[in-house]
Amino acid sequence: MKKIVITGVAGFLGSHLAKELLAKKNKVIGLDNFSTGKKHNLISFLSNPDFTFIEIDVSMEKVIGLEDLKDIDEIYHLASPASPTFYQKSPFDTIAVNTIGTKNMLDIAKRDNAKLVYLSTSEVYGDPEIHPQHEDYKGCVNTWGPRACYDEGKRLGEVFCYLYYHLFNLKIKVARIFNTYSAGLRNDDGRVISNFVTQALKGENITVYGDGTQTRSFCYVDDTIEALMLMMENDNANGEIINIGNSEEISVLNLANLIQKLTNSSSLITFHPLPKDDPKQRCPNTNKAKQILGWEPKINLKEGLLKTIKAYRIKLGFEC
Ligand code: NAD
Ligand code: UDP
Repeated sequence: MKKIVITGVAGFLGSHLAKELLAKKNKVIGLDNFSTGKKHNLISFLSNPDFTFIEIDVSMEKVIGLEDLKDIDEIYHLASPASPTFYQKSPFDTIAVNTIGTKNMLDIAKRDNAKLVYLSTSEVYGDPEIHPQHEDYKGCVNTWGPRACYDEGKRLGEVFCYLYYHLFNLKIKVARIFNTYSAGLRNDDGRVISNFVTQALKGENITVYGDGTQTRSFCYVDDTIEALMLMMENDNANGEIINIGNSEEISVLNLANLIQKLTNSSSLITFHPLPKDDPKQRCPNTNKAKQILGWEPKINLKEGLLKTIKAYRIKLGFEC
């Protein structure tokens, strides 16, 4: 039985990951400060005897000395707001958790010789000039804008991982996650799929920012979680940065149309100002994930959206 730490366990990805790792009979210690996560996300496994929850800000150094965090085998470091709405509301906390928080987790990994997967993001590519984005692309990030706290925070988090890998020869891996979704996203999360599906089901206007020609590539949560666990297992991923995402690219306007159609919604599509520095095009090159992990996403956008819409209907009380 492995002893595994998940930071950000009360969040969207953290809670899905905890469920999977507990189902595989691991001992999971989840850390979260509930800044964007919800207690509700923990309910289905909170009473599992193999799960321990600790409410703490992982940017605080005292996290390293916690009694329960001894003899750790694996660490998944997910703690960080991910929605632009939330990370822009608390920019200093976003920088802290991705830099000092990452260093704290790396110090635990070093002490216990534990493996560590750090959740970085496609945002490290900023507003990319090459498509699709492969891991060697250095990115085009604006340091003087509202997204910088997240983008540069994550980039510095990667630097900490690089240093601990090279200086201390630890089993460190960096996953650059591209937009992941499912009904696990909060309705008020602000990210596009949760906004559009919630709006379409409630009959509210579907709010497209800009003219909707910007693109994203969406990966269903089950695929992302599978990739993260494969990364942890695979020693060939040590010291590697790997894109995790689905290369099925779609414009935001086409996404709005698709969700309107799949929900049979009478909602109108309305246009609103494009947020500053909103990336124009984003699509992962996933060759490295395929090569090293033998991983490819299995769930296409339409299938994933149908699952998401079905679950949101229940969540919003439109269906039992
Ligand atoms: P989320 O906001 O749902 O979850 C993040 C969790 O981290 C929350 O439970 C929050 O309370 C917790 N947290 C934040 N700061 C903390 C701190 N200082 N101490 C303890 N807990 C803290 O976001 P998510 O979508 O689940 O994202 C998880 C990770 O994956 C993040 O690191 C994010 O940057 C990365 N990521 C996600 C996506 C995506 O599409 N979901 C894309 C790229 C990267
Ligand atoms: N977006 C939108 N309407 C919304 C929310 C988001 O048009 O209600 C757009 C946003 O401007 C961006 C894309 O959808 O171009 C994805 O936004 P999200 O916040 O989900 O993630 P990002 O990839 O920007 O971090």
